[in-house]
Amino acid sequence: MIVVLKEGATKEQCAKVENKLKELGFQTHPIYGEIKTIIGAIGDKRSANKNIILAMDCVESIMPIMQPYKLASKEIYKTPTIVDLGDGVTIGGKKIVTMAGPCAIEGEADFLEIARRVKEYGADILRGGAYKPRSSPYSFQGLEEDGLKIMNAARAETGLKLVTEVVDPRDVELVHKYVDVLQIGARNMQNFRLLKEVGSLKTPVLLKRGLAATINEWLMAAEYIMSEGNENVILCERGIRTYETETRNTLDISAVAVIKEKSHLPIIVDPSHASGHSYIVPSLAKASVAAGADGLIIEVHQDPSNAMSDGEQSLCPEDYNKLMNELKPIAQAVGRTI
Ligand code: PEP
Ligand code: MN
Repeated sequence: MIVVLKEGATKEQCAKVENKLKELGFQTHPIYGEIKTIIGAIGDKRSANKNIILAMDCVESIMPIMQPYKLASKEIYKTPTIVDLGDGVTIGGKKIVTMAGPCAIEGEADFLEIARRVKEYGADILRGGAYKPRSSPYSFQGLEEDGLKIMNAARAETGLKLVTEVVDPRDVELVHKYVDVLQIGARNMQNFRLLKEVGSLKTPVLLKRGLAATINEWLMAAEYIMSEGNENVILCERGIRTYETETRNTLDISAVAVIKEKSHLPIIVDPSHASGHSYIVPSLAKASVAAGADGLIIEVHQDPSNAMSDGEQSLCPEDYNKLMNELKPIAQAVGRTI
């Protein structure tokens, strides 16, 4: 529920209401507006004894939060969240961020080369998988910690921020020491232990939509992370499974508009996993920018036909460069920069 305090309520009065809410078993999220203060109270509504709160001097009214996701909804936080990665890199502001790099880190020299190229062509964040959740147990599973070390070397040289996937709650402690953004993959969107683990940190989390998850389920997964205290969540639409077989998944472009309507969290799009084919990636990337996405995550490999993972959907550096140039006027047309 949302507790609205009367105009002019002091910080001390607000603290009193918060303490009472905590006694009743709620988590509290005060927001100090210019005129009024509101307190988002999150918890099991069965423990709500509204009358005790309403009876407090400084309380004006109580409103229910209609959505099942509370912290992720716009009902408490109305202004868009901007996730700040430091050094001027933010997600959710005017600039559309691009994350680019190979599906998997295959070796140091190759990774450093891709890092240099995507940096030159305008990427803000370098992607690379060190722990790969492959559909087959016999496929390349990633270089693990050695891969994370290679990522660090690439950041040291290029200054690019780093995003990588973490697949197991037991690895979170280690992985978060190496990167700027922790990715939760589509297959793990409802791995609640993993969500809670990344929720206990402050490191930003890129939460991919599950292959067959509704937008509601996806926002509930974000809520798991946020309710543990980590509000730095970036959503990523990466296509959902449909009956179509020409594409690996079907990009749900409406998800961009729906998320903008329902949530204050930033949303980016992954046109690579959504399409499964490099020739489709530019069209989907352009549509995403036009639809209002806050960023893109694109697989780029210097030799896609010999990539150890997802080569078919990876752009070569030249095509990534071409796409970045084509995206500029589209970003401008929707009042953004890239
Ligand atoms: C990836 O980013 O390489 C990946 C495995 O993505 P997804 O979880 O969306 O399939
Ligand atoms: Mn991939």
